[in-house]
Amino acid sequence: MTDSSDYQKLRAHLAFLRMTAAAEALPAHLDHAAKAKLTHFAFLERLLAVEVDAVDERRKMSLARFASLPSPFTLADFDFSAQPSVDPKLIAELATLRFVEDATNVLFIGPPGVGKTMLAVGLGHAAVAAGMRTYYTTAAELAACCHRAALEGRWTTTMRFYAGPGLLIIDEVGYLPLPAEAAAALFQVVSQRYLKGSIALTTNLGIASWGNVFNGDPMIAGAMLDRLLHRSVVVNIDGDSYRMRSHRARADATRRATAAGAAIT
Ligand code: ADP
Ligand code: MG
Repeated sequence: MTDSSDYQKLRAHLAFLRMTAAAEALPAHLDHAAKAKLTHFAFLERLLAVEVDAVDERRKMSLARFASLPSPFTLADFDFSAQPSVDPKLIAELATLRFVEDATNVLFIGPPGVGKTMLAVGLGHAAVAAGMRTYYTTAAELAACCHRAALEGRWTTTMRFYAGPGLLIIDEVGYLPLPAEAAAALFQVVSQRYLKGSIALTTNLGIASWGNVFNGDPMIAGAMLDRLLHRSVVVNIDGDSYRMRSHRARADATRRATAAGAAIT
């Protein structure tokens, strides 16, 4: 058998196994192996590493698409000096993602604009980078999706969908009051993930006022909080809104500039 027919067979094997990156890299790697007198081990390891990297990259891209994270900001973009109520050590610990491994929930609680979504989404990016299945939704979106699923007879598959990701981010719980049906859907999502998968949740409501979101139903609010808090990290953020901060800084600068202008004239 000639070298060239072996080569053709090897190309065919790689094509059959859909190892396109390895197939593309094959000629250059064969050349290099011959020149550098690589062992069979070393050659095969290097060729497979090309394919492993390509598959890993594709997997990360597909995880990132699936996650639907609404902004590109990562935890590294968070300015801790602007928000002294957030403990950088706690966020660094969360960034290790150990909380996802033991199905701990993270609750970000605070008024609008303090960085709750940014931190939850930052955790989402870290989880995707670590190869974890992650999904972002708002409470309102989740409610609408469950409502459609109920109408279209897809309730079971939809519940299975929300049970799937290792990390489920539920943003903006409490901004809109949830009708009874939506509250029940959210409750079921939280219940079925209990002790199995993490939820990172953001809310503007202090825990004491959760009864108000769930259609004034304190039973469902209490049962949901029990499950959410049993194994959880609560991040209370009570600083100023970051958006307002930059507005204020701009307004102050404008005022100073105008005042200076006024003083000259
Ligand atoms: P929340 O969800 O609490 O309402 P967001 O996370 O949406 O607040 O933050 C509002 C805006 O301010 C976003 O554009 C966010 O990226 C930015 N932001 C908030 N806090 C910080 C911070 N500490 N460092 C950098 N940007 C921040
Ligand atoms: Mg938000």
